[in-house]
Amino acid sequence: MVAKSFGIPHLSTGDMLRDHVGRATELGRLAKPVMERGELVSDEIVLGMVEERISRPDCANGCVLDGFPRTLLQAQKLDEILLRTGFGKALVVHVAVAEDLLLRRLTGRRTCKVGGEIYNIYERPPKVEGRCDNDGGELVQRADDCEEVIRERFAAYQRQTSPLIHYYRAQSAIVDVDGGPAPEAVAAQIMRVLQ
Ligand code: AMP
Repeated sequence: MVAKSFGIPHLSTGDMLRDHVGRATELGRLAKPVMERGELVSDEIVLGMVEERISRPDCANGCVLDGFPRTLLQAQKLDEILLRTGFGKALVVHVAVAEDLLLRRLTGRRTCKVGGEIYNIYERPPKVEGRCDNDGGELVQRADDCEEVIRERFAAYQRQTSPLIHYYRAQSAIVDVDGGPAPEAVAAQIMRVLQ
């Protein structure tokens, strides 16, 4: 929603990695087992992907980075990339959501195989079970959206990603947003901050 409203690309490292896994590229074969365990893919792989993508012309006016950076090294390298490409400092949006709510959102998430539209069987169910309202595409569940793997992803977040909050606070480059409300309300909060 945010990327669309600003007319800039939405870059999700998770989407990029899932695309590699789906196409069974060499990178995808390396990433697949790591993602299935709910752990973080190596910094080298992720940074290479982001650096290549961010340097394409459609990012000239900026982009929304989603799910990146997730480690201190990624954050430090991102600073370097942004400096080199003339973007300046990143603005970091810290969207905080309580773990029990996150668990419900992740276990309930279903994605359209055709257009990528995201549903939630508890909060935003499709009109016809298992089918996308827009194009009738099949709705599928991500392999890592089961409770066991989600717990691992939470642990990886605590261990490797949460230190970034301090890193960006020290640079006064972070804004906090309450991720509890509905998606439209959260997007509106983020857009207010960015404007
Ligand atoms: P996401 O779609 O953002 O939930 O990411 C799904 C999975 O992709 C994560 O659990 C990681 O295994 C991997 N991944 C995505 N982004 C990153 C990143 N920035 N660094 C390392 N691994 C990542």
